[in-house]
Amino acid sequence: MLNLRTPKRIVILGGGTAGWFAALTLRRIFSANVEVRVIESSQIGIVGVGEGGLLNIHDALLRNQIDIKEFMAETDATFKWGFSYEGWRTGKADDKFYHLFTSARGEGAQWVEGGFLPYYSALINQGVPLESWIRGFQLIKNNASMEEAIKAVDEDRTDLVTSFHFDSYKIAKYMKKVALSRGVVHEDVLVKDFVRNEEGLVTKLITEKGEVELDFLIDSSGLTRQVMAKMPGARWQTFKDYLLMDSAIPFYMPHPNKNPMLITRAITMDAGWMWQIPLSTRVGAGYVFSSKHKSEADAIDEIQKYLGFEIEPHKTIRFDPGCYEQVWIKNVMSLGLSSGFVEPLEATSIGQMIEQLRNFERVLVSSQGIISENSIREYNEANLASWHGIRDFLRMHYDCTRNDTPLWQEVNKSPMTDRYAEFRKCIQERTPHLIDVENYAINGWGGIFHPVNWMSVAVPLGLVPVSAAGMDLLWLSKDKQQKALDFVKKVQEKGW
Ligand SMILES: Cc1cc2nc3c(=O)[nH]c(=O)nc-3n(C[C@H](O)[C@H](O)[C@H](O)COP(=O)(O)OP(=O)(O)OC[C@H]3O[C@@H](n4cnc5c(N)ncnc54)[C@H](O)[C@@H]3O)c2cc1C
Repeated sequence: MLNLRTPKRIVILGGGTAGWFAALTLRRIFSANVEVRVIESSQIGIVGVGEGGLLNIHDALLRNQIDIKEFMAETDATFKWGFSYEGWRTGKADDKFYHLFTSARGEGAQWVEGGFLPYYSALINQGVPLESWIRGFQLIKNNASMEEAIKAVDEDRTDLVTSFHFDSYKIAKYMKKVALSRGVVHEDVLVKDFVRNEEGLVTKLITEKGEVELDFLIDSSGLTRQVMAKMPGARWQTFKDYLLMDSAIPFYMPHPNKNPMLITRAITMDAGWMWQIPLSTRVGAGYVFSSKHKSEADAIDEIQKYLGFEIEPHKTIRFDPGCYEQVWIKNVMSLGLSSGFVEPLEATSIGQMIEQLRNFERVLVSSQGIISENSIREYNEANLASWHGIRDFLRMHYDCTRNDTPLWQEVNKSPMTDRYAEFRKCIQERTPHLIDVENYAINGWGGIFHPVNWMSVAVPLGLVPVSAAGMDLLWLSKDKQQKALDFVKKVQEKGW
């Protein structure tokens, strides 16, 4: 049992996006006589990437009483309505598909029958691209301005769910400002070590200026994983057999189009792929690659040839894709990069961090601070299952047909996880159903991605045969089949 009923001090090690989100959450939960302290070192700084959110960021900002307009202005934010995947099938310039943020919004997703979405099954069965019915898609295609996008949202002319692109330094700075105004204590000092008592609880951090006593520690120290890496029982689970990317070269570039795009681009390269994240002032970009297939110098050369101009690369980031099997051990919880990381192909890191915090809040509040080891164990199991969902979703992106370079040839042959292989067999016979993602929903945890998200990638990659969607429709009564087919006809006639 862990007693957090009357803690004196909660320490958050790290002042990146994860640390400040945690600070705002804990300041909100605990009464004013509990100190919430963020310790970070300006000598180390933050990772300085991570500029695209997922569907849950809007709610997380509201949950923490952040004013959305102020957030957007202070972080150079733009709307993020999804992703475009470019070159994943043929590697050619005209090879593009979209994974848009619609999930449960819009007419197509409203009707659920027997755990599947008949309108989607009908679209797949009739070979109609899934984005065609989505109101607002034309704004993305026509490179609409942010003013037009905001107007469309205000006038309810879009089915898209709004997430954001934002500047990673400015988000940390802005959240710090808000957190300090709410009484969060801040200390800029290098942490060198920590002390545990005979029960294994961390009681103090040793900094270069002295000791800081604590009752609970959030380790959000980024890729250095200062505390969790040294906690007895912490086991790292690598995903490197399934996800081959292990390096990234970030850089900034100007907007390629008139207006910032309303989506993140993921463009395949010879040994990986390039992200382009449009902010109001610049594009944050980077080449994620497999170091086995490309050196750093060759990667920079390839970027410059592709873009047609010279870049100023930031420091290359190396990573082992994976996560801790237990992110919560005793009175320490790792969060953000310190808990795990996989390539940012679906920008999952901040999204997963937000889910982890949301569930931490749920456990804390519903236990009234008297937390049983059972809850901690189940929390860890659910968190790991969520990571497995992310791992498998990313692996599915590499179940693609591009095969013109050694990396893409190896990708085609790389192993699948048992979970993904089993899911893949099922979607030969029917579309992805709610049950496939609800499996991840242990103890009320939702998987980050809905069947609509899985279909948005699986269908363009050719992983869901037309016949599988037909089998869904056959399961319906005749009038329901007709209703689904009438919807497709309407979509085709409207010519969205
Ligand atoms: C290449 C790349 C691309 C990414 N793209 C995306 C994306 O598109 N979308 C997304 O959601 N996520 C993305 N991420 C992940 C995203 O960057 C992180 O989830 C997010 O920035 C949160 O980082 P963090 O707060 O965990 O760590 P950091 O920002 O690295 O912060 C770590 C903090 O710990 C402090 N610290 C470390 N050691 C010590 C010490 N010894 N003493 C004192 N302080 C210490 C540092 O000073 C810093 O304040 C990407 C990551 C990478 C590597």
